[in-house]
Amino acid sequence: MKLRNLVAFSSITLGTLGAALAIKSFLPQRFATAHWYEAEEPAPPLDTSTFPQVEVMFLRCGSVAIPEFVAVRGAFSPFPRIISHSAVLVRHPKATFLYDTGLSSDISAFVADRSLLFRKTLGNFQFEQPLSSHLKSMGMERTDLDFALLSHLHWDHVSGIPDIPGVLLRINRVEYDAARLGLLDANGGLVRQLMGDNPIEFFDCAGPAYEGFRSSLDLFGDGSEVLVPLPGHTAGNTGMFINRANGPRVFLLGDAAWVSQNYLRPATMHPFMWSRITSDDATARQTLIKLHHFALQHPEIILVAMHDAEMQEKFLILEQAQITGARMKQ
Ligand SMILES: [Zn+2]
Repeated sequence: MKLRNLVAFSSITLGTLGAALAIKSFLPQRFATAHWYEAEEPAPPLDTSTFPQVEVMFLRCGSVAIPEFVAVRGAFSPFPRIISHSAVLVRHPKATFLYDTGLSSDISAFVADRSLLFRKTLGNFQFEQPLSSHLKSMGMERTDLDFALLSHLHWDHVSGIPDIPGVLLRINRVEYDAARLGLLDANGGLVRQLMGDNPIEFFDCAGPAYEGFRSSLDLFGDGSEVLVPLPGHTAGNTGMFINRANGPRVFLLGDAAWVSQNYLRPATMHPFMWSRITSDDATARQTLIKLHHFALQHPEIILVAMHDAEMQEKFLILEQAQITGARMKQ
């Protein structure tokens, strides 16, 4: 074969190979869930009647629409899925606090200083309502918050902090130690700048296994807010169970999944996104499989990922109906 032919042949072959790989990246990927050793029959529900009354509210600050096949590998639908940027306000008798922080009023200025690639990909979102305005609309000030607990330290989860200067940040020690090795200084130190000089307190999920998760931290010692490690997305991504007398149990997932289909199928995001934002591929997949089985065993618990706009909206509707129903009974 002449050199020119050989070059043409190789480039066609490589092109075909590239196209095949690109197509494969959209196809479903098999997870070995069939051989999982845990039973999938629903587990007996926990009696929550003795737990305190806890109010839970999602504060949506921004969103971006992405094709479903980007959020969920193997989903063939090009219809958009809404990825939200939210904080969760939790009112417990012992403390009023946030789980993640949404977006602050000056987030655009923080993002504007970053690279074009960042601004056009991860930093691209529709700004809706800053954290400060959510708090204000509920007659709250930052001083009404006892602390903000961060699921993990990606920029989009600490982005509301400039709106709550001085509020104590509670961070998983594993997450902070890992973030010190690079995440805090990534994108020109964006996370470090967003965290400002708010005081920090570390926590350790060093308590006993909880609901099949390897360890836990009972935040108030009453079993109502229980933190569990959901690692892989980042080293210390932390989930939180909310067990209460006045509503269904809730399980906040941080970014262990983007949308419910990630753990229901289970399926990662499209590998292009997944590889960019996942710190440990194998561990993150294990966590997804764990959540897959947990969701099947606990249909009574509402699992909500922090970017899952659809689940957050459904939850708020359900919560509102519950509050109205309780008022009517009085
Ligand atoms: Zn995120």
